[in-house]
Amino acid sequence: MRDTDTLSDAVRAAIRDVPDFPKEGILFKDITPVLADPTLFSDVMDWMAESAGDVDVVVGIEARGFLFAAGLVDRLGVRFVPARKAGKLPWKTVAASYALEYGSAVLEVHEDAIGSGDRVLVVDDLIATGGTAAAAVELVESLGGVVTGARFLIDLSFLNGSQVLGVPSRALITY
Ligand code: AMP
Repeated sequence: MRDTDTLSDAVRAAIRDVPDFPKEGILFKDITPVLADPTLFSDVMDWMAESAGDVDVVVGIEARGFLFAAGLVDRLGVRFVPARKAGKLPWKTVAASYALEYGSAVLEVHEDAIGSGDRVLVVDDLIATGGTAAAAVELVESLGGVVTGARFLIDLSFLNGSQVLGVPSRALITY
């Protein structure tokens, strides 16, 4: 695996900036070129796994967070739990609402997916204002889990999300 700086440069170069998507004024970070490069994606997953720490569960946030969380649980040998948008999960859920950089939404987790004292890492592709990740943290804690940290490919640090999140957070790329 390449060193973190080299990896970070390669990922930065691969990310495609799409202006005014999905709304005017949003510069959307399109990570599909990273996913479409097998070596790059694998190196990203190795980077995430190295710093994951000792956890029982990885919570992936719908939808792009699923991709990284799935790669992570495969490497760590721990449980995957999806945090999904309202109405998508079939079993009994707990829910938390949050504000997005563009709009608002509700996130849900199955109520039996996380137990008291479970050590949980929250994973998404990108943190912007931090509202989405904070909702995931709130859900984990409401079920008695302990959030050990949060991991992202990208941190839009000018929006201060990782600062207000309140759990140790890391991203491969910071803008
Ligand atoms: P936030 O709750 O503001 O931290 O927003 C993070 C969530 O929205 C993540 O699930 C991201 O996938 C998505 N998101 C927010 N802003 C962007 C952006 N500029 N480019 C790509 N995805 C974004």
